Amino acid sequence: MIHPALKKVILTSATLVFLLLTLSWLQMPKKENPYGLDIISTLPDYRRTIRENGSNQLVDLEKSIGGIVLDMRYATSNNFTGQPIYPAPKAYLRKVVADSLLKIQLELQKKGLGLKIFDAYRPYSVTLKFFKVYPDTNFVASPRTGSRHNRGCAVDLTILETSSGKELEMPTPFDDFTVKASQSYRNLPDRVLQNRKLLRDIMVRHGFEPLESEWWHYDFGGWRNFKIMDIAFDELTY
Ligand SMILES: [Zn+2]
Repeated sequence: MIHPALKKVILTSATLVFLLLTLSWLQMPKKENPYGLDIISTLPDYRRTIRENGSNQLVDLEKSIGGIVLDMRYATSNNFTGQPIYPAPKAYLRKVVADSLLKIQLELQKKGLGLKIFDAYRPYSVTLKFFKVYPDTNFVASPRTGSRHNRGCAVDLTILETSSGKELEMPTPFDDFTVKASQSYRNLPDRVLQNRKLLRDIMVRHGFEPLESEWWHYDFGGWRNFKIMDIAFDELTY
């Protein structure tokens, strides 16, 4: 027989715990999925996909590709939104994609060159945010389908000269939303055309597909095998 006073304490504590749990649940950031896409948005789900296939792991490029240079524009205000979007300058790609990029880096290093990354894996919530700021699907992925960046299978990048750290001259700066950024734009000096071709040839040879409207954007050929993800960078560091 429980003493009535003790019973009261237990009930009060249980109510308090319930209230605290409800409060913390309400404070958890909500992950929006307004178009009902098949999205991996929790760590347990993400870990399950890795157990099913190791290629699903998102790999930190700084740790896995020696000498790679990051210029993660969305972690700064130097991007088309004019404000920092990412909490940290991190570049992640799926294991199989990062492995291909490593081969490209090793090849470029033999020529005194290397890769510079502007963007890689992008959580789906960021794609929703981009579309609100710039609703033009020529340059910003539609949130109805999500971006290949959301799948950890797309990368925005250029080539730099290792000794000087200077980028090779390309048709436009990164995220220049004009016709000059397109792969077929030809009204450029020969050296610029050659630089764009150098990047394109080496990427294509290692399983990437160019995007017509952006010289800096490449999709990994097997992107369809990877789900859209909405896991924040700080959740990935486990
Ligand atoms: Zn891109």
